[in-house]
Amino acid sequence: MASSRSQDSGALNPSARLEEILNDKIRIQELPDSDQEYEDISPEEEAHMAYLESVKIPIVETFRTDSSEVQDETLEAVLPFLEGNPNDFPLNEFGIPHLQREKHIKFLQKALGDYPAPFAMMDASRPWIVYWSLQGLSVLGYPIHEYSERVIHTFKIAQHPNGGYGGNYGHLPHLAATYAAVLSIIMVSDPTNPTTYDSINRKNLWHFLGQLKQADGGFNMTSGGEEDIRGAYCALIVLSLLNLPTSLPPDAPARQHGLTSFLDNLGSWIGKCQAFDGGISAAPGNEAHGAYAFCGLGALSILGPPTETLHKYLDMDRLIHWLSARQCAPEGGYNGRTNKLVDGCYSHWVGGCWALVEAGLPPQDAQSTIWNRDALARYILCAAQFAKGGLVDKPGKRPDAYHTCYNLAGLSAAQHKCTYDAKDYVASKNLDAAFHWYAKGRFEGGTKVWAEKDEIEHVHPVFVIPFSKVEQCRGYFEGRDKEGFDGGENGL
Ligand SMILES: [Zn+2]
Repeated sequence: MASSRSQDSGALNPSARLEEILNDKIRIQELPDSDQEYEDISPEEEAHMAYLESVKIPIVETFRTDSSEVQDETLEAVLPFLEGNPNDFPLNEFGIPHLQREKHIKFLQKALGDYPAPFAMMDASRPWIVYWSLQGLSVLGYPIHEYSERVIHTFKIAQHPNGGYGGNYGHLPHLAATYAAVLSIIMVSDPTNPTTYDSINRKNLWHFLGQLKQADGGFNMTSGGEEDIRGAYCALIVLSLLNLPTSLPPDAPARQHGLTSFLDNLGSWIGKCQAFDGGISAAPGNEAHGAYAFCGLGALSILGPPTETLHKYLDMDRLIHWLSARQCAPEGGYNGRTNKLVDGCYSHWVGGCWALVEAGLPPQDAQSTIWNRDALARYILCAAQFAKGGLVDKPGKRPDAYHTCYNLAGLSAAQHKCTYDAKDYVASKNLDAAFHWYAKGRFEGGTKVWAEKDEIEHVHPVFVIPFSKVEQCRGYFEGRDKEGFDGGENGL
């Protein structure tokens, strides 16, 4: 099949190819010789080069900056993987590397194992490592229930006596750790074995969240910590999945400012995070960033149906413009900020925004896809798979559980359709909006990039865990309703 670029001495080396892509004059001058020049390349490589030509940005900025230098270096690293097959992976019928499913499963299983001593500094990230690995394994179709006991044990000791989760035993509770811990527990839980769900102390967690709610509507990440949009997203994820009361606990400091609900001022606070260029930032006045865009859209999609909340709190035209500009050409993957480099984790942080955005559009506009799914899948399969397993930011980087999880979530978003149906939404029901998403099978349009064998599982667009786990969890805690909370107003 296709020979790798490095073995293909007759073809252009990556640097010459980069020059050609960047410099129209060189390209035009060399065109007459192109037949002879490309005679040693395979049909697959020829097709890839034609594709790269088709997505080339026609305007080249000639003013040189540090940013343009590193962008060129990035292209030099990425192009060989889009043109050829340096890892010598088996290719699918479209000339694209197959998803290396077994290798990625082994990588993530190892990520759930023991770590050498220098990783002690990562101890506070333990809940994240568990979440990324379990979510990555799930989307690859690997049954993760074998990890159930270990997960419950890990988070039993990381649960703080006053509510919420820290990184490990004795750590202070933090909203990011709480988010990752709760999602991990839910992923290995099953209604037939309620001890897993019941390992979460919901009442204490509710009090912990009450300490984080701010008078302006947002949430701090930890008591006395920073207030940013991750807080809004993580808090709403936990409140809605665990069916916690939306009324503030009596001891919540925000009550002293007249607030009574976790939802007070929240939509307008998220709206203030939209930056001048249309993107969403961590907090009002900051620079827009892809991961914060996902948090903002995710939070608003829990606050109410996206058909109502997105347009109410955001300028969607400007946001769509900003999100579209994050898809890099010719790389196909996403960057996270203006003038930054392609990075596999934004396959989810930005790629995952589109399902939410499309749900907020009028039905006729949402019929057609407004992002290039094939280009993203091409980047992930060609350039983000590490030879020995795991996925990466970009070629030349090492794999890790974080980039493996979010590359795979982005691949799933590219491969699948899901829709939002507000007809069964009950406004009076506790944070009901995010439970009306439906998986609608595979995306069939566009240029074929992935084979059937390369398809992975659906991911819930708001909760970023399997659909079935979202439904099981909410169903379980709806059954428990507000048990033990007494409506949140009785001095608990
Ligand atoms: Zn990254």
